[in-house]
Amino acid sequence: MARFHQLRVTAVDQLTDDSVALTFDVPAALREEYRYEAGQHLAVRRFVDGTEIRRTYSICAPAPGPEVPEEPRTLRVGVRLVEGGAFSTYAMKEVVVGDELEVMTPAGRFTLEPAPGRYAAVVGGSGITPVLSIVTTLLSREPDATFCLIRSDRTAASTMFLEEVADLKDRWPDRFQLVTVLSREEQQSGLDSGRLDEERLGSLLPALLRVEEIVGWFLCGPFGLVQGAERTLRGLGVARQRIHEEIFHVDDGLAT
Ligand SMILES: Cc1cc2nc3c(=O)[nH]c(=O)nc-3n(C[C@H](O)[C@H](O)[C@H](O)COP(=O)(O)OP(=O)(O)OC[C@H]3O[C@@H](n4cnc5c(N)ncnc54)[C@H](O)[C@@H]3O)c2cc1C
Repeated sequence: MARFHQLRVTAVDQLTDDSVALTFDVPAALREEYRYEAGQHLAVRRFVDGTEIRRTYSICAPAPGPEVPEEPRTLRVGVRLVEGGAFSTYAMKEVVVGDELEVMTPAGRFTLEPAPGRYAAVVGGSGITPVLSIVTTLLSREPDATFCLIRSDRTAASTMFLEEVADLKDRWPDRFQLVTVLSREEQQSGLDSGRLDEERLGSLLPALLRVEEIVGWFLCGPFGLVQGAERTLRGLGVARQRIHEEIFHVDDGLAT
């Protein structure tokens, strides 16, 4: 059963000007309860003047493997600041190492059990967070898997986990492919800027990969981006059961 426990913050890493990664220590007695699958998330809550503020954050670190029952020793999540947002402002500006936060045991079905095959993701903004866990878990455990990540953000400076994603390319140059589209910045190639809307994806995807060979699509980010990507994939003939979705926020546009 899902339960909250007080977990101690052991690291607060600034990722960009408007995002941080929080790492929580998991005491030995709670490790079994906090075992997670790649792509799952944690609810975190606090009380302000008696009112509960509860938000969900995806785990960015790879999932513990079956061969290491004593893990996870830590949990790491990425939080992007939402202007005026109650919890993200607190996470960005107030949380320090040593604080204790109420963290629920992992949940969520936006997951991937490593298996051979070709996989791909389309993510916007902080939607990279669970997909970083999914890609790292998959490629480190399954030698016969490949992953193509298409990510969109506003600018390079605002892109979360830039180094971690670059490391994936260094680690698995033949099995990991990355395409970054920046909506508010011209890239040097002049090709990958602008919005990752349906029209753009519809021409990008068939040029990048054999769409019909992808066994699992992972779409994550704001509602507009996820819905647009799903429509594009369905239009390209991708079966519904191959598409996995995680919506972070219901917006009214396609921006990240
Ligand atoms: C399954 C799931 C997983 C998630 N994982 C992550 C994650 O890994 N990293 C992460 O940073 N966030 C993630 N989120 C979003 C997160 O839960 C919060 O919604 C977000 O941090 C905003 O909370 P807040 O309290 O700061 O803002 P609030 O006080 O809830 O909202 C303030 C204002 O901002 C708007 N708003 C809320 N969320 C967003 C948003 N994402 N973008 C733009 N405007 C918004 C609201 O409509 C409101 O007007 C996830 C959400 C879900 C449902």
